Amino acid sequence: MPGEVHVVDHPLVQHKLSLMRMKSTSTSAFRNLLGELSMLMAYEVTRDLRTHPVAIDTPLARMQAPMLDGKKIALVSIMRAGTGILDGMLRLIPSARVGHVGLYRDPKTLVAVEYYFKVPGEMGGRDVIVVDPMMATGNSAVAAVGRLKDTRPRSIKFVCLLTCPEGLANFHEHHPDIAVFTAAIDSHLDEHGYIVPGLGDAGDRLFGTK
Ligand code: URA
Repeated sequence: MPGEVHVVDHPLVQHKLSLMRMKSTSTSAFRNLLGELSMLMAYEVTRDLRTHPVAIDTPLARMQAPMLDGKKIALVSIMRAGTGILDGMLRLIPSARVGHVGLYRDPKTLVAVEYYFKVPGEMGGRDVIVVDPMMATGNSAVAAVGRLKDTRPRSIKFVCLLTCPEGLANFHEHHPDIAVFTAAIDSHLDEHGYIVPGLGDAGDRLFGTK
């Protein structure tokens, strides 16, 4: 498979993902778990962020301490389920800027149709982390990353919780240069474009809209 894929197999991630998959998990529990998982995924995807030394005073001495270029990070949520990942990630990276890409899946063709696009200014200097809990067909991810590439950010990474071989192949066919971070690669897509075994409709489970 071309393109970089990081499966975050940490036991905490896997345990929380299993709870999210259960159909008996309530909306509020699902939301909390997504928040916790988002923090853990943020930890992995930011592993190679650059820091710069800043002079600080500890109670004992002055030192050059590494600090993040927080304002240089843009978290971009693919609406609407991506929004559920933002809160957790922003708790770890509070000064990140936030963008939104609104895409819906045409239920017949499963093609991603854009209805909203708003990202921070000065994208040229930013490291972008695109978030969506599910990379299913990959069409939304392909479209969102394509639009974001037009803004010429310094880098782009894609974070989801679940994906499948079909989605990854589609995504990396279009964007072989973009690394994907996921908690699991499931078996396959069903005829409606749902990931199997998956966790159902992430947006409906997050917002209680079923
Ligand atoms: N979107 C979802 O929310 N779930 C899937 O399984 C596929 C796409």
